[in-house]
Amino acid sequence: MKYANIIVNISHENLDRTFQYIIPSPLQSVVEIGSLVRIPFGKSNKLIEGYVLDITDEASFDESRLKEIVEVVVDSDVNESKLIKLAEFIKNNYGSTMINALKIVLPVKKKIKAKEEKSIILNISDEEAENKLSIYKSKHQNARARILTELINDKVLDYALVTSKLNISSATIKYLEDQNIIKIESKRVYRNTVSGDIEKNKTVLNEEQKLIADDIIKDIKDGNQNTYLIRGITGSGKTEIYMDIIDEVVAMGKQAIVLIPEIALTYQTVMRFYKRYGDHVSTLHSKLSDGERYDQFVRAKNHEIDVMIGPRSALFTPFDNIGVIIIDEEHEGSYKSEKMPRYHAREVASELARLNNAALILGSATPSITSYYRGKKGQYKLYELDKRAKEATLPDVKIVDLRDELKSGNKTMFSRTLKEKMEERLMKGEQIMLFLNRRGYSGFVSCRDCGEVIKCPHCDVSLSEHKNGKLVCHYCGYETTFVKKCPKCGSTRVGGMKVGTEHVEEMVKKMFPVANVLRMDSDTTKSKDSYNKILSQFANKEADILIGTQMIVKGHDFPYVTLVGILLADMSLHVNDYRASERTFQLITQAAGRAGRGALKGDVVIQTYSPDDFSIIAASHQDYREYYDEEIKFRQMLMYPPVGQLMVILCESEYYNTAVKWSDYLAAKVKSDIIDGLKKTLVIGPCDASIVKIQDIYRRVIYVKSLDYMALTQIKDRIEQMEELSKANIRVSFDFNPLNSI
Ligand code: ADP
Ligand code: ZN
Ligand code: ZN
Repeated sequence: MKYANIIVNISHENLDRTFQYIIPSPLQSVVEIGSLVRIPFGKSNKLIEGYVLDITDEASFDESRLKEIVEVVVDSDVNESKLIKLAEFIKNNYGSTMINALKIVLPVKKKIKAKEEKSIILNISDEEAENKLSIYKSKHQNARARILTELINDKVLDYALVTSKLNISSATIKYLEDQNIIKIESKRVYRNTVSGDIEKNKTVLNEEQKLIADDIIKDIKDGNQNTYLIRGITGSGKTEIYMDIIDEVVAMGKQAIVLIPEIALTYQTVMRFYKRYGDHVSTLHSKLSDGERYDQFVRAKNHEIDVMIGPRSALFTPFDNIGVIIIDEEHEGSYKSEKMPRYHAREVASELARLNNAALILGSATPSITSYYRGKKGQYKLYELDKRAKEATLPDVKIVDLRDELKSGNKTMFSRTLKEKMEERLMKGEQIMLFLNRRGYSGFVSCRDCGEVIKCPHCDVSLSEHKNGKLVCHYCGYETTFVKKCPKCGSTRVGGMKVGTEHVEEMVKKMFPVANVLRMDSDTTKSKDSYNKILSQFANKEADILIGTQMIVKGHDFPYVTLVGILLADMSLHVNDYRASERTFQLITQAAGRAGRGALKGDVVIQTYSPDDFSIIAASHQDYREYYDEEIKFRQMLMYPPVGQLMVILCESEYYNTAVKWSDYLAAKVKSDIIDGLKKTLVIGPCDASIVKIQDIYRRVIYVKSLDYMALTQIKDRIEQMEELSKANIRVSFDFNPLNSI
């Protein structure tokens, strides 16, 4: 016998309640998770529809009391059942309950009342109205008289205007409506998020772009489902390719989803889509209210829009026939959820594309090592574009060794080269961008004289400086007291790195008191629209220098920027994380790409204590392949993703001892029982998480590496089923191939 847990109505309120039914044998081959089925419900056994969330071999209730599924509804509401299948995928691959996974894919919590525009219309003849008016006047019914006077003039009045400007109560309006003197009409209005003028001047693709677009379009037309990776330098025309493919897909009556990392930062790109698709495109972003979000989903379901642009949650737009999913800047960390279940939009998009037989296109100037690896192996079709679409020369890049600056007595954060070039630009009236990767700051410790970074003896990662003065490795738990002497050159000038954008701004203002300086970081962009304000001020040349974090490296074109200074390229390099080098390469390449976007030639100055690091050297050549070839060797050697797969088991408890006890227990269990039979699987730890306490909860981690992702999900499944855990005061969760250290 098989049993199905069925949800009868998909709305947030009902998610927690499923009903169990027997799957009769003739239906066993057709009923699957996500199926829409017809079931007898309640005492009257009225036939209603419900979705299958789960199928089990055992009944959770007395079997004699269970009813049977009547039939599978053909032509079911396909988009909902696809989303339920997507929830199942998330549950299986990232660890979660079905309910939590459903809450992610069905994010519309409840129907928010649609915004309505109501109007009041005169429902009687003018003659009758005049009669009524004189009656009201004689009776001193002033409110009634006032509204009627206006209606005799205008016939139709805006409801909101009547209640506010004329100060008429809703009771008065109701009275007149009941008397049939007026009637109220409402027209539903959708909250649209952006509006712009539509221009239909398509760019004609050049030969290289066309080859890619045609190849992908052919696959779509032939029904060959594939994933594509377009590695194309910034400005090579990837966005134009996406739009040509979307045109074809829309012409076939299908829809497109475009993921971008953050709307505010990619405003120019979003506007290009609005200009091309007008009302057929919509956006989702974090500043939308629930009502606005709901409207966008309703529009998608009603086929009023064909293209949805947004962050990773845009994947769950209830389109019924998706033709293409595009993930722009696919290497971006924001595509991985930081909350449980910690899914990666790229992997979920891949499943969604499979369910829809749609194309999945990933694009980036600096793809994630994972995607490029898959491209090289032929799992993805790989295309490369190394020329800018509009002729613009690539900038000249110079690496400055900050150790030399120190030796020659320059203790500021501006090398002599950078300072000279800044002076020159200011004289010429050209613009400068200074980039500081503050997010990478995590307290690594290095020698000021030789640049040596203090590393863990067991792992190829730097140690982190903890508040208690100890240096800790987050990959194996190795701990040592603070190093006072450089292990390489013996210098005592060893210390942690501390710099921030605010500090840079102060220094710049001191050095160049007449220059106009703007700063863009998480502090200066708290209010709505602050991004656009700063960016448009800079674009309008109201400032000479823009200082910022990674926010300033995204796709903005500033034609007068001819100098980009990367103040401390090392900042993201020595964080305790196997992806540190990848992130450094991406950031420097993108920051450097900001120089010389217009007719003027650009210069880039990269300041670093590690001028020999291959990620910095490759970035200075803007050479992705050079970087990849080196980095992949390191991943292969250490079995890090994408070569190996990594699962982090996070154990959290309000008591440190409990976290220690259960993480020890689990690690031992995984080693002794579970791994037996799973080939080439390695357990590291347990050790403290990189942030050992968050909000009074202590955190311990166990790392499990394997060549096989399935082996990891099997371990996850086994742990999820361990009964002793449900009774213990411990919370266990999983992170697969984490992007950041946990
Ligand atoms: P990417 O997405 O790779 O950064 P874009 O699609 O934004 O590149 O293209 C960069 C600039 O070049 C844009 O201003 C775009 O309009 C222009 N462009 C792209 N392709 C062509 C083309 N074939 N002909 C003329 N201009 C183009
Ligand atoms: Zn040293
Ligand atoms: Zn270590």
